[in-house]
Amino acid sequence: MKSRSVLWLLLIGLLSFAASSAMANSSSIVNFSNRVCSLAGHATASPEEILKLRPAFDCGTGKFTNKTDMLWLVADIGNLHDNMAEPVMRFRAARQGAVTLHTIYPDGSTQTNRYDQAAMTENWRSPYAVALPLVGRNGQFPETVLISAENPWDPSNWHDIELVDAEYDLALHEQGELVSMLVTGFLLTPLLLSFLFFIMMRQRFVFYHSLIAVAFLVNHICWSGQIFDLFPAATLVDRSWIAFMALAVLAYAGCMLIRSLCNPNLLGEWGAFSLKCMAWTTLITTTIIVIFADQLSLTGSLVFHVVYGIMALTAVGNLLRCAVKGDRLALLQLMGLSVGVAIAMSRIIRALGWIDHLPIFDFGFYFAILIEIFAVSLIVGYRALQVRRERDDALLVRQGLEDMAYTDELTGLPNRRAFSKVFSELCAHDEKRDKVWALGIADIDHFKKVNDRYGHDVGDRVLARVAAIMSGQCRRGDYLARLGGEEFVLLISARTEEGIARLAQRLVDSCAAGNFDDTGHAVGQVTISMGLHFLENTHEADLETIFRIADKALYEAKTSGRNQFIFAKPTKPMLVAA
Ligand code: GH3
Ligand code: MG
Ligand code: MG
Repeated sequence: MKSRSVLWLLLIGLLSFAASSAMANSSSIVNFSNRVCSLAGHATASPEEILKLRPAFDCGTGKFTNKTDMLWLVADIGNLHDNMAEPVMRFRAARQGAVTLHTIYPDGSTQTNRYDQAAMTENWRSPYAVALPLVGRNGQFPETVLISAENPWDPSNWHDIELVDAEYDLALHEQGELVSMLVTGFLLTPLLLSFLFFIMMRQRFVFYHSLIAVAFLVNHICWSGQIFDLFPAATLVDRSWIAFMALAVLAYAGCMLIRSLCNPNLLGEWGAFSLKCMAWTTLITTTIIVIFADQLSLTGSLVFHVVYGIMALTAVGNLLRCAVKGDRLALLQLMGLSVGVAIAMSRIIRALGWIDHLPIFDFGFYFAILIEIFAVSLIVGYRALQVRRERDDALLVRQGLEDMAYTDELTGLPNRRAFSKVFSELCAHDEKRDKVWALGIADIDHFKKVNDRYGHDVGDRVLARVAAIMSGQCRRGDYLARLGGEEFVLLISARTEEGIARLAQRLVDSCAAGNFDDTGHAVGQVTISMGLHFLENTHEADLETIFRIADKALYEAKTSGRNQFIFAKPTKPMLVAA
């Protein structure tokens, strides 16, 4: 891989990362996850009891990683909401159980509001937040919030907890819905293209691409919350498991696509195996976690991060290796992935607690999706064209071989095999209707003498010349082939039997009048004799029998003076009626 390509790759990655960060940053949102401390367990304790345990809360980097049946979060939000008319608390929606918000006011009074799954679904905000109002009391807003999350499936989601004014929260929601709908529209294009390609090509890699396009779309519809518009009965839990399954299909199809698009010689057996392995691992792990989410005693997201991390490394590693070895399609795939990788990196960095202020509204993710799916579509289109070209080439080679098998080298005429094929096709297609058809066998007179007198080479040239003369007399629809030796076979048609006779006479005469000067010797006159047999209007015919009859007529033409044609005597139909 040229160093210029690496630079391009880096540049695209950096630019898209900067663009997505710029789009996502907004000063109207205050992320206060750095003020949050957590405590696991104590499911039956009251808020007052929990507040007494405040010194035991974890405020460090591990505060969101405990798998627990109850997660308590406390934060002094103080005057962070001073500029907000109606402060709203937003957090990332996952499949956690009910959330209870205990708010403590400057005068010491408290208020408790419990939100179950249905209430949280109602407070859904595009693309992936739940917004709960911080209710004012006596002109005051709370300065401390205590949150209890029952069965928090993925505590790390609380890295995105923020305050925003209600008006801005709704504006973000509307903006989010609009962008989400646009992205859905864009995602339909590669999906459609992919299906078209699949119908045309029936190639496995196009099938994987179709899967990817469907998975992207389904994941997006869930992730962006459009699922709630499309299916009003859907809950946050539905959104979560469908999105995860779509992600698993995406990972599976992605690995399989890379496997089938990379040059097999460069990818190697181990590369192909590792991709297949990771494709199935992500699919199976996700299915297990989705089905047994509540029974598993481990943090689902942790397993996801590990499995998807290894999967991504396997995919990128293999692509990188192939790209370095000179696989252009692998390089293009890497470029398409670079934005996604940048976004994923930013999420990992955030999950590690190294950066706090990446707000929930991360449209960069959509940006990455679109770049990725369009890049993959381009690659698949390019590969489809390549496959088409390879098929055409193979067809040409096959045709060339077929031509060789069906053509007589000396005269350039079709050979006996080709004639048999054409004859059976003619019979099958019933083309004999409305016309008189005849089969003729022509043989050069005293050809042995030509060979004996002038040599075999001149004989060859005479043979080729006779073929050319006869060929010149045939009309469209007639078929002339070399039977072998100095014998030719003709399939001719005319409106009447007289028409056939006229053509036969022309063939005999033109040979007799032919000029053979270019054969290297003054060969003089070369004549042919011909035996013809009229074909019946039937579907099936025994070619050997017809040959025999025509041959008999030819023999008569020879014995009765040569340089002439003779029709076989009308016989009982020799063609077997269909
Ligand atoms: P007749 O008028 O009875 O057909 O006499 P003829 O000499 O043509 O007799 P016959 O058909 O038996 O002889 C065919 C000769 O054609 C025999 C063979 O040496 C010659 N021959 C067959 N194939 C070729 C070929 O490809 N090139 C050349 N130069 N001669 C061939
Ligand atoms: Mg002969
Ligand atoms: Mg002969």
